[in-house]
Amino acid sequence: MNKIWLSSPHLSGHEQKYVQEAFATNWIAPLGPNVDGFEQDLCNYVGVGHAAALSSGTAALHLALVMLGVGRDDVVLCQSFTFSASANPIVYQGATPVFVDSEPDTWNICPDALETAIKNQEAKGKLIKAVIAVHLYGMPAKMQEIAEVCQRYEVPLIEDTAEALGSTYLGKKLGSFGLLNVLSFNGNKIITTSGGGALLSNDEYFIKKSRFLATQARDDAPHYQHSEIGYNYRLSNICAGIGRGQMEVIDERVAQRRSNFAFYQRELSNIEGITFQPEPEGSFSNRWLSCLVMDTEKTGGVTREDIRLKLAAQNIEARPLWKPMHLQPVFAGTSYYGGNVAEKLFQDGLCLPSGSNLTKEELGRVVTAIKSCF
Ligand SMILES: *Cc1c(COP(=O)(O)O)cnc(C)c1O
Repeated sequence: MNKIWLSSPHLSGHEQKYVQEAFATNWIAPLGPNVDGFEQDLCNYVGVGHAAALSSGTAALHLALVMLGVGRDDVVLCQSFTFSASANPIVYQGATPVFVDSEPDTWNICPDALETAIKNQEAKGKLIKAVIAVHLYGMPAKMQEIAEVCQRYEVPLIEDTAEALGSTYLGKKLGSFGLLNVLSFNGNKIITTSGGGALLSNDEYFIKKSRFLATQARDDAPHYQHSEIGYNYRLSNICAGIGRGQMEVIDERVAQRRSNFAFYQRELSNIEGITFQPEPEGSFSNRWLSCLVMDTEKTGGVTREDIRLKLAAQNIEARPLWKPMHLQPVFAGTSYYGGNVAEKLFQDGLCLPSGSNLTKEELGRVVTAIKSCF
């Protein structure tokens, strides 16, 4: 039986036209018409003023922190329930990550726990330089409440939209709410450039500055002169060409992933003890990954691990939900605010195969394997 992946690249067939153009015009460099075009595509789609195409989402997060002046002894508050790339750049800057629990409605950062964290850290004399909110699996975080807390305490908000291109909150695209917003185009994301990312903002200053920092921070001089530490973080013009071909089909990809989710929900939610990631009113998720949680008291003891292993035995890749950062060995001893929402989700949750290129037959194989556990 062929392998069913969690989330594999899905090309539109239009990518090679742009890549070919790059070859034909000899723009084989981390700048060029595809980079400019891809940035424009992202601005138009997300509805944001400015975009810088970068080598990864991690690089975009790193530059966001650099530009906000995050340094030694500063605190950055970060959603605990996320992929490590959300938090690692805090450490690159020598700053201290402080983790915050999720709330059950969206599985994203809890506005109340966030406020407690800000108050408590400030009372300890800590300078909080940024908040990183994540839209996990494509689900919008409670941006209104989160933005309100950030405004009240005057802390800049970074939106980690790596998993959520195409999602909307109150009718507005994610990636347009934060002061700085991060996208990823890694191979497993809803669209891919093989590897890549972007930083978005309505403030032109930040995007110009991020392009400067991403190209080794060269001062305006004919010789190479530097007054700041720079990085080599720009996106290749070839990869950007892949991105332009992918942007032509982004809305189709969202529809396909949502259709996978609807199929799983229809087929599986009558099994006692299985529930799916909620989508509160006002939220529209790209359903990057279809995620379920198991209440083992109601499933007759069947755990998410039982399902994962059953799927693995049939050459189907599934994955536990993200292990929260405050439980990661590398972040042992860091401060954490909240309860056990993220921890419970990690314990009982599973991501099902979610690629936009899955066939009906493959989706059927997944569902049959899961049903056979009961
Ligand atoms: C993928 C991902 C990133 C990092 O993006 P890369 O392009 O892989 O560096 C950051 N945050 C989250 C939540 C992600 O899923």
